Amino acid sequence: MILSLGNAKQELVDKVCQNLTERGLENKVVRCAKTTLVVVLSDADTLPGHIFSQMEGVQKVVRMSSSPLVKEVPHGSISISGGADAVELGGGLPPIMIAGPCAIEGREQIIELARAVKSAGAVALRGGAYKPRTSPYDFQGLGLDGLKYMKEAGLQNGLPVVSEVVSIEQIEPSAPYVDVFQVGARNMFNYELLKELGRQRKPVLLKRGMSATIDELLQAAEYILLQGNLQVILCERGIRTFENRTRNTLDLSAVAILKSLTSLPVVVDPSHAVGKRDFIAPLSRAAIACGADGLIVESHCNPDQSISDAAQAITPETLAAIVTDAATIFNALNPDYAATIKANAAASISSGASCFAVAK
Ligand code: PEP
Ligand code: MN
Repeated sequence: MILSLGNAKQELVDKVCQNLTERGLENKVVRCAKTTLVVVLSDADTLPGHIFSQMEGVQKVVRMSSSPLVKEVPHGSISISGGADAVELGGGLPPIMIAGPCAIEGREQIIELARAVKSAGAVALRGGAYKPRTSPYDFQGLGLDGLKYMKEAGLQNGLPVVSEVVSIEQIEPSAPYVDVFQVGARNMFNYELLKELGRQRKPVLLKRGMSATIDELLQAAEYILLQGNLQVILCERGIRTFENRTRNTLDLSAVAILKSLTSLPVVVDPSHAVGKRDFIAPLSRAAIACGADGLIVESHCNPDQSISDAAQAITPETLAAIVTDAATIFNALNPDYAATIKANAAASISSGASCFAVAK
């Protein structure tokens, strides 16, 4: 952290340094042509800014890192379990596929689809029960009943369940049926919701707001981490740009940049990014090539019949092809990992059911 004191008198500079020292913060004065800077050498990232901005003589406080925890959280991988085999996500492991409908439409629909996405290679089931729709006249989701159906479908197929909560009140009743809480793009800036999810002990899949910068996404993650929940999965789902051929614009730069800034897992949602089913596969391949730890994809047994987001829903067959391509790409980019998996498989050591990148 750097404190700028303008052309403050020496007396004031000394006072600031003394204040910092009394707080146990090591500091150093740097004199530039027209301003005096006090560099705080100790880690002050988690201290509130007003402590510094309110010191007499301080004109500006520059934090070197606005999201210290996302940068420092040490991670192997995040474990997602739902009464079934645990799925490991991130930490350099092969990417995983999370798939399911935009909205849970009924018990039969989700049970049939869970079986289909499992056979296609998905390791977790997604589906919305509380749908944050742009129009209040559109289907709003089945609520808790929907979650019960999806949990049943997940348990039948050994798939943990990922679902969105749109308000704090939904967290507690949803918790028995949801293994990963999703924060939707429209709620990335809902800091009270983020704080409450930070007090939970389940992973949180945090989607990037449609007009949020990478740093705003990291700061949103920071809200969750700060409350003690270190199981945060970041999700790039496309941002709004001038382009109107696609629903949003998939920002693959964000994937590479997030991976360089944090060890939190990063997944990509190509469905809401492009919004058109023909382009889900190519964007999925690009995301894996870019280093994504997983994909979250909308799928439906009868895509055209989907109650919501029909245009971007893909069949389980297309999903299976994406899973295969993703494995091929991951193995090509990680030859050592692929060779180890192959050797372990030959020695008939189980390599875990969670990863789809087992060399074929
Ligand atoms: C969803 O995943 O169902 C969803 C509504 O996505 P987003 O929040 O990214 O729009
Ligand atoms: Mn959707």
